[in-house]
Amino acid sequence: THFGFRDVAAKDKQKLVEEVFTSVAGKYDLMNDLMSLGVHRLWKRYFTGTAQVKRGDRVLDLAGGTGDIAALLKERVGKTGSIVLGDINAGMLTVGRDRMTDRGLVAGLEYVQCNAEALPFPDASFDLVTIAFGLRNVTDKDAALREMYRVLKVGGQVRVLEFSEVTIDWFKPVYDFHSFKVLPRLGKLFANDPDSYQYLAESIRKHPPQHELKGMMEAAGFSRCKFTNLSAGIVAIHDGFKA
Ligand code: SAM
Repeated sequence: THFGFRDVAAKDKQKLVEEVFTSVAGKYDLMNDLMSLGVHRLWKRYFTGTAQVKRGDRVLDLAGGTGDIAALLKERVGKTGSIVLGDINAGMLTVGRDRMTDRGLVAGLEYVQCNAEALPFPDASFDLVTIAFGLRNVTDKDAALREMYRVLKVGGQVRVLEFSEVTIDWFKPVYDFHSFKVLPRLGKLFANDPDSYQYLAESIRKHPPQHELKGMMEAAGFSRCKFTNLSAGIVAIHDGFKA
């Protein structure tokens, strides 16, 4: 493919991710609905609805993209709380800010263009840090996890929602067919961009599975790390806390 992402070097990965998300920004929401048959909305609702957060809290949603997680978390922190939506990609942030403003969500929201590997926030700034469908795109995941730990307040939670390893054997070939045959075709039909969607399928397979990611979170300093599989491990939620 023109991205040549099969053997992409670490230093090129950031550029590739930049190209992919700049390319998909305008069609991102439509494609999410098509690819997951709308189920991503349920995963996101569960992820935010069961997060450790209360009214008045300050939250960082990293790789926040078009703002689904930030909008749901805003309901939970209320008028007195605030959400910072951080994303490395200006195109995704612009779509995100427009969508939030269209929904009437303005007060208590900030948008920061930033790389998860080097966050522009002081230590202990947030009660909750979330990253949904973002960590697999980050080149140095260990650095990103250390940064999330640093900006979290003591007692705070980090929550990661990410594609993971399917746990039911018979379902694996069905899922592979969907990822490598259906997904790029949907990308071609609806976004005229099969390469970006092939990248997404491949990035899911390369992402560390449940136990490995849990170990990486422990190595970054988090306590009481655990994961919860949703939809037979198509996605998993990983939690960690700052003791
Ligand atoms: N969280 C949103 C959601 O659940 O719909 C968006 C997820 S989207 C698949 C992944 C996002 O990660 C993109 O907006 C991309 O720009 C962002 N991203 C990729 N690498 C990043 C990095 N190193 N730091 C911050 N954001 C990054």
